Formats: sequence, C-alpha cells, structure tokens
Amino acid sequence: MIKANNPDLKSWIEVEKRSDFPIQNIPFGIFRKNGTGPRAATRIGDTVVDLYALSKYKVLDGLGIHPEVFNKPVLNDFIALGKPTWQALRDRLSEIFEENNPIIRDNPGAKAEILYSIDLVKMQMPVSVGDYTDFYSSIEHATNVGIMFRDPANALLPNWKHIPVGYHGRSSSIVVSGTDIHRPKGQTKPNENEGPVFGPSKQVDFELEMAFITGKKTELGESVSTADAEDHIFGMVVFNDLSARDIQKWEYVPLGPFLSKNFGSVISPWIVTLDALEPFRTEGPVQEPAVLPYLQSEGKHNFDIKLDVFIQPEKQKEFQVCHSNFKYMYWNMAQQLAHQTINGCNINVGDMYGSGTISGPTPDSFGSMLEIAWKGTKPVKMPDSSERKFILDNDTIIMRGYSEKDGLRIGFGEVSTKILPAK
Ligand code: MN
Repeated sequence: MIKANNPDLKSWIEVEKRSDFPIQNIPFGIFRKNGTGPRAATRIGDTVVDLYALSKYKVLDGLGIHPEVFNKPVLNDFIALGKPTWQALRDRLSEIFEENNPIIRDNPGAKAEILYSIDLVKMQMPVSVGDYTDFYSSIEHATNVGIMFRDPANALLPNWKHIPVGYHGRSSSIVVSGTDIHRPKGQTKPNENEGPVFGPSKQVDFELEMAFITGKKTELGESVSTADAEDHIFGMVVFNDLSARDIQKWEYVPLGPFLSKNFGSVISPWIVTLDALEPFRTEGPVQEPAVLPYLQSEGKHNFDIKLDVFIQPEKQKEFQVCHSNFKYMYWNMAQQLAHQTINGCNINVGDMYGSGTISGPTPDSFGSMLEIAWKGTKPVKMPDSSERKFILDNDTIIMRGYSEKDGLRIGFGEVSTKILPAK
C-alpha cells in the first residue's frame, strides 16, 4: 500500500469529518495570497500548505526537488520530475503532518509562515495546459445525444464502441474555478427555412466531466501502451466543459465543434493524484464487441467518483440537478491515452484530457442540461418555480466530486462558474 494512503493516519491539522481533503489526499495546486505567490501548495482540511515556505525548513530535503520548483506560477516543472518524485513527496508530506510528528507542529513560527486558511488565498490555474483533448467516452451520454439528434434505433455511430472518439480542443480558454464566463455570441440557425442569425447563444449548457493531466512527455513517433498509460498521468480534476448547443448545432458539420466549445472550460483547482484515488478503483463496463488489441487493458482502470451538479440562481440557494459517477465511463483513461498516442502523436507534461460528458443510466444522472431537460422538452422546475432548459444569465454552475469508502473520503472540492450576460 502507498504509505500516504494509510487510512489510519490522522493529521495534527484539523480536518472536518466530511472534508474532501484528509491527510490521505494530499492534492497539488497553485495559490496566491496578497504579496505571496503564485506558489505550489497542498491542502489538508481547510488549511493550505505553502510548499515553498515548507521547503525552507529543510523537511523536504533528499527528495531531489529543488525548492524553486515550488516557487512558480504553475506545477509543470514539479510534475516533470516524474512519478517516483510525486510519490516520495506525498509520503513525506504525510509524515510531516501526521499527528505525532512535532517538527512543524511544535514550531509556531514555522506554522505562521507555512499554513494559511483556505479563505485567505486565491487558487490559480494549477498547470499551463499545452494541448487539450476532449473525449466522448460515456456510453449513456453518446446514446442520449444519438437518440435526440439522429436515430433512436442506431443511437451510437458505428465507430463508437471501437474508438475512444475525441477531438482536439483549445487550451487558452481553460480556466480555474471562480472564473466567471460571459455568454458567448455566435452564429445560430434557429429556423430551418431561414438563414443564420448572429447574437448571444440561447442554449448555454454545462458538461459534467473530469479531466486528467499528463505528467510525462513522449517523443513524436512514440506510443503509450494501456499498461504504461497511468505512469503518464499525474492526476485528475473536475471539469465543466461549457458548451453553446445552438452554436454547436450549426457549426459542427463536417469538422466537429469549434466556437461552441472554447469560450470557457473550467477546472477545479486541486489536482488529486491517481495515487490518492487508488482505493477507489473499480471495473469499467464490459466492452462488447471486444476492442482491438492496442486498446485492451488489464485490471481495474475505472474509479468510483461521485459527481454532483448544482445550479445556483442569483441570490438563491443552490439546487441539485444531477448526480452521476465517473465509473460509468465506457472507455478508461489508459485506453484514451493509448489511443491518443497510437499514431505517434507526442504528449507533454500538463496536457489535459477531458472525459466527455459523464451521464449515468437514469435521468437524474444525466451530465448536461441538454439531456436533463431533453432538448428543452422537459424543463427543470427550480425552487423559485422558474424553469431551466439551459443556463440563464447570472446562474452559477457548481460541480463537486468525491470518492468515499470505508470511512475514507477523497475529494476534489468544487468547480464553480457564473454565466454573465453576453459582452
Ligand atoms: Mn466536452
């Protein structure tokens, strides 16, 4: 077992019972506070640990990490040190903050320099994202979309069970939780028999996704096998891949989504390592027909991660519209990365790979308003008795993700974004 994952460990830092961030999590992020940062941090409970300040106390010596790696605006240089280094750092942090270790615990000066309440910091984009791919790997989501827009009898296109379908997206508009997004403007074609019109999208939607971030580069021409893929994955975030359905509908033939998908995609700020998620591995759905040999994977590559989506209208309480689970994914991350690289496409540290909308089998687990309100035919009744077919101006969309088993909870916190009126 990974030392830092020991469920019996307790920290001398206070952790509330339902916290996403017990000492067994040790995620990584980038924070800023007044004059301090941006710098690398981890989080225990509601306390942010400044890794650069911590390294000054020599407690991270011997790990092969130059302290300046933590004094950067993104984690890319740290991540590039490789999996054995991430693992060694998680283990070391776990020791330093374990309840019986006095080295920082009993040093009030050190604590004042190293620890901040989460309320006092602003979280930043944790990585510089070079390339971004978005997959389409939930069978329930792909089936729902196929039923709505094509043919209920042949909802999945013929390639879907053979290829982890995806497209190359745009990284410049991937932003961190708390970033508000203006409703996009664009071309739509609301009436069959009339020409296109230009204006604010009327069908802004969320896509409940998770994304993984790569931590090991490859050279052009190389491929990553499903067996090695997880060595290339640093960790995961919850991902709200905002979409403008009306723009998408008009623009996407024949080359796929374009401006309907790059006006803002939002991630949760803490990257949870695959190591921390180890206890929550689970089998994926049976793949039938069998996939080609380069896509076959041994063992459990799926993860049981509960995912909730809430809409919070201006000055009102949040209202839950979806509870789904990452485990519904038909294609796992190892298969996605193997497919991404099978043609020799090279990958870099900090690349991001979206899962695609994660829908479950029942209507309350659908991962987009498109499906929840079924193309606008089943509007969601909000507590103030207003209706939602899609997202309205000044609605805040909140997504949360966590795994829970045998009293251990490892979570991602939340990704929150408000949709502002069009500019
Ligand atoms: Mn997407």
